Amino acid sequence: MIRHLNLKAYGKVNLGLDVLRRRDDGYHEVRMVMQTVGLYDKVELLYREEPGVTIETNLYYLPANENNLACRAAALLLDEFGVRHGVHIRLNKFIPVAAGMAGGSSDAAAVLYGVSRMFGLGLSREQLQERGLRIGADVPYCVLRGTALSEGVGEILTPLPPAPQCQVLIAKPGISVSTRSVYENLHADRLRPDQHPDIDGMVEAIRRKDIVEMTARMGNVLETVTVPAHPEIAAIKDMMLESGAAGALMSGSGPTVFGLYTDSRAASSAYERLRYGDGSRIARQVYLTDFFNRKEPEETEE
Ligand code: ATP
Repeated sequence: MIRHLNLKAYGKVNLGLDVLRRRDDGYHEVRMVMQTVGLYDKVELLYREEPGVTIETNLYYLPANENNLACRAAALLLDEFGVRHGVHIRLNKFIPVAAGMAGGSSDAAAVLYGVSRMFGLGLSREQLQERGLRIGADVPYCVLRGTALSEGVGEILTPLPPAPQCQVLIAKPGISVSTRSVYENLHADRLRPDQHPDIDGMVEAIRRKDIVEMTARMGNVLETVTVPAHPEIAAIKDMMLESGAAGALMSGSGPTVFGLYTDSRAASSAYERLRYGDGSRIARQVYLTDFFNRKEPEETEE
């Protein structure tokens, strides 16, 4: 019996994000190139004799009940398998919240994996992905991790060879955008063809390990909604591109912006500028990390 598991729940960025159409059920059909980054939340699972799921987090404003995606993931498996014991979750958030980096989805994915291990449920990766989809569209990808093409509403996943390694500068402006309203304000049928990113070209570039072509095809159709409304997003992108980024883009529904650098000195000086220099007026949270492409989960047991 495993009594204590330490897990890492990694964030993602979207190297490409396209929306094809809105389905009758309100979900959007997407084509996204997903990439895990080295920034992670720490998720500890502690075995409890008595049934139920409890959580503590380092952020007072996050739900500490079943509305937390980490709790929902644990409860889903414990209920389905009629487990008569429980789990306490200690969640230490480092991934910016409501930022387009799938933080909550990644916590849920880590908990699905961890609960299956702790209670010996023996679920395969595919089985965890199926359960994940009931929690959120990005959860199946967060179970998979690495570089991948995500289609449908996020459930059709094609693993890709690891994207060429880059330094990733992440900057979240001090504004909030609601994922829901961004999608509601996107009128996919009214976009010009040139407003859709070339996802197939991006996938091809990744397969060829061509970093120049890859960064040239970075694009996020949701910027057509958020950039006009929030000049901070364009300002951070411009600052990253001026400072030597090979590409810069908003991730997911934003407002986080990330820049890809092949020159680590340029990345470090851009980090300093956004964190402490003139950029710090628009960027509230700034991180410098890289792509994370290891396949195996790296949990530790106690
Ligand atoms: P995505 O990239 O999938 O759109 P996101 O980065 O926009 O995700 P999250 O940080 O995952 O958004 O969470 C957004 C909201 O979900 C928060 O406002 C928060 O109240 C709620 N939430 C529930 N569980 C969590 C969790 N474990 N971590 C962060 N937020 C959570």
